[in-house]
This record gives sequence, C-alpha cells and structure tokens, in this order.
Amino acid sequence: MPDRDAIIIGAGFSGLYQLHKLRELGFDAHVIEAGPEVGGTWYWNRYPGARCDIESIGYSYSFDSDLQQSWNWTERYSAQPELLAYLKHVADRFDLRRDISFNTRVASMVFDDVSNEWTVTTDSGEQITARFVIAATGCLSKPLIPTFEGLEDFAGDVYWTWDWPEEGVDLSGKRVAVIGTGSSGLQTITAIAPDVGELTVFQRTPCYAVPAQNRSIVEELAELKTHYDEFREESRNSVGGFPCDDELPPFFEDLDDAGIRGELERRWDDGGLCYQQSFRDLLQSKEANDRAAEYARGRIKLKVHNPAVAEMLTPRSYPIAAKRMCVDTGYYEVYNQPNVTLIDVNDHPIRRMTEHGILSGDDELEFDVIILATGFDAMTGALDAIDIRHGEQTLRDKWADGPRTYLGLMSAGFPNLFTVTGPQSPSVLSNMLTSIEYHVEWISAAMAHLRDHGCTRIDAEVAAEDNWVNTTNDAADMTLLPEAASWYMGANVPGKRRAVLPFVGGVDVYKQIGDGIAISNYHGFDIS
Ligand code: FAD
Repeated sequence: MPDRDAIIIGAGFSGLYQLHKLRELGFDAHVIEAGPEVGGTWYWNRYPGARCDIESIGYSYSFDSDLQQSWNWTERYSAQPELLAYLKHVADRFDLRRDISFNTRVASMVFDDVSNEWTVTTDSGEQITARFVIAATGCLSKPLIPTFEGLEDFAGDVYWTWDWPEEGVDLSGKRVAVIGTGSSGLQTITAIAPDVGELTVFQRTPCYAVPAQNRSIVEELAELKTHYDEFREESRNSVGGFPCDDELPPFFEDLDDAGIRGELERRWDDGGLCYQQSFRDLLQSKEANDRAAEYARGRIKLKVHNPAVAEMLTPRSYPIAAKRMCVDTGYYEVYNQPNVTLIDVNDHPIRRMTEHGILSGDDELEFDVIILATGFDAMTGALDAIDIRHGEQTLRDKWADGPRTYLGLMSAGFPNLFTVTGPQSPSVLSNMLTSIEYHVEWISAAMAHLRDHGCTRIDAEVAAEDNWVNTTNDAADMTLLPEAASWYMGANVPGKRRAVLPFVGGVDVYKQIGDGIAISNYHGFDIS
C-alpha cells in the first residue's frame, strides 16, 4: 500500500481546495509546498501594488456557501495582502495546515508499473509513495530569471517582483529602474511612482491596459451576496469564467458603427477585462479586433500629455488581447510626472548592468535600485522543473516540442498524475478560480470513480490525447493569438518551443466537453 492516496504539489488556490475536496471524499492526501506559507501566487508576489485583475467576488472560492457568505471583500479588485489573508483564513477554517509540508520542494517522481504508485522525492531526499499525484504547481509560478550581464556588479539593490521582501522596501527618494511592463511591472510602477525620487521604466512591448475602476465594494457586497449562487453558475457557463453581462453576438452582426463604438466605450468605462469580450469573436475576427484595439489606443493617448511618450505606450504590433491585457489603476498618468522616464529597449537595448546602474544603448544610467518584473515560464515551467519519470520517459522530454495533454488534465504515459489548470485547458485565458474549481472537482470525481470500481490506474489514451492536442491547436490557429509573441505562446522564454499553451475555446465549451467525457465513463482514459 502507498504511504498516501494522494500527494498534492503546491498550496495555492488549487492545492488548498484539492486537499479539502479529497479529504471530504475520504482520501488520505498530503500537500508539499516549496514556500513557508499557503497562498502560492499571493504569497510570493508581494510587490507594491500587487492585486488581482479579476473581480474578487469571482476570484474566490465558490465551493463553500458559508465561506462565500462570511468573507467580506473590501475592494472590487483585492490587493495582495487581502488575498493572502483570505487564503490563510481558508487554510485555518478547513484545518488544512496539518496536512501540508512547507519549505519542501518536490524534486522528482517516478511511477512504478507494478504497484501503480508514484514515488515522490523531495529536495531533502525524503521519499513518499502515493497512488496519485496532483500537480497544483501553478501556471505562473516559475519565474523567468533574466540573464543580464553584470547584474552581480551592480552595487545597488535588486528586487524581483515575484519574491519581494516580506518586510517591504523603502524606495522613497531613490533612483529606481523597473524592467518589464507586463501586469506585475505595471502594478509596481503605479504603486511606487508617488514615492521614488526618479523612476525609469524599461519597456520592450507596450501593453493594452484597461482601467480597473477599482472601488470599495463594502456597500454593495450584501446585495451581491443575495444572488451569489446564480452569479457563480453564470461564471461556470461563461466564456471567461466570469460573467461579462450580456456577451455580444459576433462583431457586426447587429450593431452599426455608432453601436459598436458605444459598446466599446461602455465596457472601457465600466473597467476590467470584460473589455476583451466586447465581441465574442474579438480574438477571431481581425476587423473586430482592430476596432477594439483602435478604440483602446485612442483612450490611452488621452491620458498621456507628452505625445512622443504616448506613442511609445501605444501598442501597435499585436492584436489586442493576444497578449495578457493589464488592468490599470493610474498607470498611464505616471508618465505625466516630471521624474518619470520611459525607455524603449528596442531603441536603447540594455547592454549590461554596471556598478552604478544600467548601460542603456550608449548611455550609462545611474540607479540605486533595479526592480525586475520580467515574468514567468508560464504553464509548463513549474512542471518542467520536476524530474517526472515513467520508465525511460520524462515529461520534460515528452513536452520538448510543446505540451501534449488530454484536456490539460493528464499526459499519456504518466498514469495517475493529474495537473490542475494544465496546458491545453482554459486556465490563464479564464478567471483561474472557475477553472481551478472545475479541475479539482473533475479530478476528485475521477479518483472516486476509480476507487468505486476497484481500479488503481488511470492514463490518457494516446489517440485521445492526439485528438485533443489537434483540437486545441486548430482552435488556436483560428484565433489571432499566434500573431503575438506572448507568454501564452511560450515566446518569452528563450529556446522554448512556441505553441499556444491554453485552450482558447472558452470555459463554457470546455466544461461541456469535460462533463461529457466524465459521464461517458471517462472516454479517452484507460482505467484499470
Ligand atoms: P500558484 O498560486 O502558483 O501556487 C503554486 C504553488 O506550488 C506555489 O506556492 C509554489 O511554491 C508551489 N510549487 C511549485 N512547484 C513546486 C514543487 N516542485 N514543489 C513544491 N511546491 C511547488 N489569475 C486570475 O485568474 N486573476 C488574477 O487576477 C490573477 N492575478 C495574478 C497576479 C499575479 C502577480 C500572478 C503571478 C498571477 C495571477 N493570476 C491571476 C494567476 C494565478 O497564478 C492564479 O489565479 C492562481 O493563484 C493559481 O493558483 P495555483 O494554486 O494553481 O498556483
């Protein structure tokens, strides 16, 4: 008999719920977490200004009505401390900590065909056997460490957004460089701009940032809670895992020119990522996309006083929403401050770090602090970092030409290993909480199904996996996603094979497929 029914890797949103759900079903499960605390993303990313970009009422668990009713979110988009407090509360409320090993990293795991068990080895050399392993390792948990020449020569302080000092950093009056203008960069820049002496932002590609229209929701929360269950149901059956009121029919179907503009304006002013669902075919129709992009560019320009800086901040090289959109709480206005400079690294490449700062083009710029907001090896990075083996094959090798999964839940040849929000599932293209809960419940039901039928092994069939990979690739090829060199495509990681990593068909469609497969006795899975 294995030591445990299941080992869960990671104690973020996914791992915590997975532990709770398996316990509820009577499984003996244990979590292994590299960090010293629960929270995952919201433990590690403590940089100034860190907050979610999906509204908290949806970016939270729905599985427990009492939890949902008793927790009071204070803002439309919660800041990191509140999200971390929530996750700690969940861990305590459901007594999860007693089954979590902190400060422990899973280094490797090997599947044994005779016993149908995984042997999991941690970084301290401890070995645990388990019937199942559930990788709740996160889509954005493996930082991309840039290789800037001379970084070690820099005499000032270097901080990474994904591992910000817990005690905080006093940046007042300092000359600060921020490298990277994705979500973390944007949020950091916006938060520190009022305090720093001088701020220099190094940008490779400008983002489209929609206003958050963040606000206190203390007053409206009580009313919201009266129909929370309907809201959750709508979320599960929506394209993005969060209801964006009336999703429109495809572009041009019903609206004339003024109608289209009015719709874009309404969504922009309402704030948040629902802008990218202005038209259901925004990622399919170039014409629809151009129209939404043009409107967004116009709004960005209005915020920035200096036309040359406004132009630098205006994205033109890729379709809107083909890279992760950002949500802005005063980002563009930062560039109206006299002490803020924007540098386009395409014109002035970062040649190296020096003792005093950064050699940018031919100029040495002096800084006290360098902040790196350079992103993640998304979706596959955390899994690739573990040596996952079955016989002669490793998952890393199998995925060298791009991930291959069935539903983003399993990869053929690696039995009894599930991935929560794995590649080729909606994951990062959705409100992750909707996708996480769906996967946790699907995995748990599959495990219970095996137990009820006296089975000990489940694997994806190669043919089903091939079919799913083709389906996800074909669906992605019908969109504009491949036109952007984004982390959705793995394009931010040197040497990583380009492939559209998430399933683009929508949470609603994915759920129908996943439910159908489960109901049909796990069609495409080999169970014994
Ligand atoms: P994570 O929270 O990433 O947790 C994974 C855990 O696994 C980590 O704690 C890690 O330490 C641990 N781990 C990994 N490998 C190992 C190993 N080998 N051994 C032991 N432990 C390991 N999504 C949204 O939908 N909306 C948002 O607004 C949003 N904002 C985000 C903001 C930031 C700054 C970032 C980085 C991501 C954001 N995301 C957002 C995505 C976010 O990652 C998910 O929403 C969610 O938090 C993922 O939860 P998770 O438990 O799956 O993974």
